[in-house]
Amino acid sequence: MLNREIDMECPECEAEMFLGNYPVEVRVGRHIVECPNIPHERCPNCAYNALDASTAELLELRSAQVVMHEVSELDLAALKFARKALGLTQTELAKKLSLTQETISRYETAALQAPAEYRLAIAGLLAHEEQVLQGTPLGHVRPEVPA
Ligand SMILES: [Zn+2]
Repeated sequence: MLNREIDMECPECEAEMFLGNYPVEVRVGRHIVECPNIPHERCPNCAYNALDASTAELLELRSAQVVMHEVSELDLAALKFARKALGLTQTELAKKLSLTQETISRYETAALQAPAEYRLAIAGLLAHEEQVLQGTPLGHVRPEVPA
């Protein structure tokens, strides 16, 4: 349904959905991250969340960052989740971080414990992607229009 003038109906229970800033929980490996104030339509009846593609992408980037910063012992699924949120293969990520693909593979299969610097480097890439997705947060001055 493309006509947004018609109130959105919940695909689960057909109740009317409401647009607002609601928290959304994202599972990152073993961890659940609660992201507050995510603007989207939500069903008051069954709590179904309708997230558009860019909001879902933003949530992935943000929740992966939280886990990279806050969890000292990362599970392997979280490392993979973060790389996938960046949309990178092991080889592409290795290139960005000046590592080898073999090293990334060892981190993700627990053959090697990923050091804190690695997690912080990934968190930095995630933050950068989030900023790209949201556009320039500070805005900009338009060039003057000649009179
Ligand atoms: Zn519903």
